[in-house]
Amino acid sequence: MNNYLQKAYAFDGTVRIYAAITTEMVQEAKKIHKLWPTSCAALGRCLTIASIMSCTYKSGEHLTIKVCGDGPIGQITMEATDGHVRGFVHNPGVYLSYNNGKLNVGDAVGRNGYIEVIKDLHMRAPFSSTCEIISGEIAEDFTYYFAKSEQIPSSVGLGVLIDPDGNVLSAGGFLLQIMPGCKEETLLKLEERLKTLKSCSEMIAEGYSAEEMIEEITEGDYELLETKELSYFCPCSKERFKKGLMSLGKIELEDILATDHKASITCNFCGKSYEFDSKELEEMISSLALKEA
Ligand code: ZN
Repeated sequence: MNNYLQKAYAFDGTVRIYAAITTEMVQEAKKIHKLWPTSCAALGRCLTIASIMSCTYKSGEHLTIKVCGDGPIGQITMEATDGHVRGFVHNPGVYLSYNNGKLNVGDAVGRNGYIEVIKDLHMRAPFSSTCEIISGEIAEDFTYYFAKSEQIPSSVGLGVLIDPDGNVLSAGGFLLQIMPGCKEETLLKLEERLKTLKSCSEMIAEGYSAEEMIEEITEGDYELLETKELSYFCPCSKERFKKGLMSLGKIELEDILATDHKASITCNFCGKSYEFDSKELEEMISSLALKEA
């Protein structure tokens, strides 16, 4: 398993930890979207937290997450279900760094704006919650999101390390959630631990597994639960885009047929292109005309 998540309980079950290795997933996103380093780090951190979050909710729950900052990257959109995630950024060509050479994700995403999380379990109305962006560095923003929107005191660590050629050397992260009944001394200990902890991308680049990251965070006081595979996955198909085209309505489709004689659509999430020729467009128009009649 190249991309995977390890779940664990720590400190007598009063802390829940999810640690994820997402290097290949982020490299795949880099290839699909031709991401420049800072866009890649931003989307990589977002894909990592989205994949982790999708493993914390009920199986089958579909998540749509938008990070809408005022920086040059523009909106970042992710979708995730059961560890399978896809996403894209408005501007893939951003390369900003701090004076120390570290990628400046905060300014690239923007320090003003909001995060929106939509959960859809397909049985009831989708549930949406929003909260403001704190720093644009993503991990801090989601830490704040969990505290504010889900009332769970949490800590999020996320990291993407990119080599001089722009390829992803390591990517991953963790989500730590404090459960009711957690002792004050555990909280203080964790707080101190997190201050001195190596960054996720460093740990993963050094070859740490997700289990070893958990070991490092808890200093050995943990109990491993399930492991889950994570992946970059786009379920798009010609059939899905056909539905989208049909939803434009008969007049719009007749217009496309008259001017372009075909429709080509490219999936924002995976870059795959789908072509609909004049014959297919005519069929859609006549089936819409039948419905109207
Ligand atoms: Zn797609």
